[in-house]
Amino acid sequence: MILNKVRLSDVTTYKFGGNCSNFYEIDSKESLKRIDFSQINLEQLVVIGKGSNIVFSDEGYSGTIIKPNFDFIELDKITGLLKVGAATFLPDIARYSKDKSLANFEWLIGIPGSVGGAVRMNAGAYGYEFSQHIKAVNLFNFETEKFETYNKEYFNFSYRSSNNLDKKMVISVDLEIKEGNSIEIQQNIIKYLQQRKLTQPPAIYNAGSVFKNPKENSAGYLIEKAGLKGHTIGGVKVSEKHANFFVADKNSKAQSLYDLVKHTKDVILENYQIELEEEIIFLGDFK
Ligand SMILES: Cc1cc2nc3c(=O)[nH]c(=O)nc-3n(C[C@H](O)[C@H](O)[C@H](O)COP(=O)(O)OP(=O)(O)OC[C@H]3O[C@@H](n4cnc5c(N)ncnc54)[C@H](O)[C@@H]3O)c2cc1C
Repeated sequence: MILNKVRLSDVTTYKFGGNCSNFYEIDSKESLKRIDFSQINLEQLVVIGKGSNIVFSDEGYSGTIIKPNFDFIELDKITGLLKVGAATFLPDIARYSKDKSLANFEWLIGIPGSVGGAVRMNAGAYGYEFSQHIKAVNLFNFETEKFETYNKEYFNFSYRSSNNLDKKMVISVDLEIKEGNSIEIQQNIIKYLQQRKLTQPPAIYNAGSVFKNPKENSAGYLIEKAGLKGHTIGGVKVSEKHANFFVADKNSKAQSLYDLVKHTKDVILENYQIELEEEIIFLGDFK
């Protein structure tokens, strides 16, 4: 276990954020037992994965942040399940699935997040959701300070949402597998990569879709229709390529993103009477 002071801009894809002085990196289950959780305010405890869906404030974060480093992919021949660590990079699962001819993980190739983040967010693309692969989740409960395992049903997954993960940290996940054809898998991987390249900006200085899609509608479509493509506040811009991606300039501020999100919500509410809900997560103080 390592306790560090970190620049939050170094641990998120938006590259925003001041410092956090209570940043723990966890390399083993045993090291979790060495942390005195009675001294930590659990209401302000954040677990971070690859930081590809989180925006920290420019002032930093005064609570505690825990980053699990469990990065592994193991095929269990007895149970027939794929065990993946919480820190495992999602595109690594897609590449592994090609090598082992396992179908239906190809869609993970373009999502720059971790397994833990994909569980919490119920990440999804191209008609897939991470929850559909899950058999069970192994986690650490910060309140009971115990390791616990729950079946998928416990988390009541829905579109970009999970339940019962507050004050808990995903350690690893057991995924169901299905045999596939490695040539088809490789073709799908290339197809998904090409689609992303054509329709989305590169995976830096953004966090993917800013808003969840409203029922039977598309956030990107509404933002584009409202004429907001290219709209910029303080160097943060509604992407010209995909209106639900807001891309930041290198030296821009998290507050500018926050202001652009607020402005966009106001315009969409006024024009279409639709309340957009953020998919990205703002943490810390914003004005
Ligand atoms: C270019 C780009 C494209 C993207 N495309 C997609 C897409 O197609 N579909 C999609 O769904 N998302 C997409 N995203 C968003 C993001 O990559 C996903 O939501 C991803 O699953 C987040 O994983 P993460 O490890 O980065 O999580 P983080 O951003 O670190 O955290 C997100 C949430 O998960 C929680 N969390 C993280 N790890 C754990 C853990 N171990 N235990 C408990 N909670 C945890 C955090 O507390 C936080 O609430 C995209 C992002 C980018 C930058």
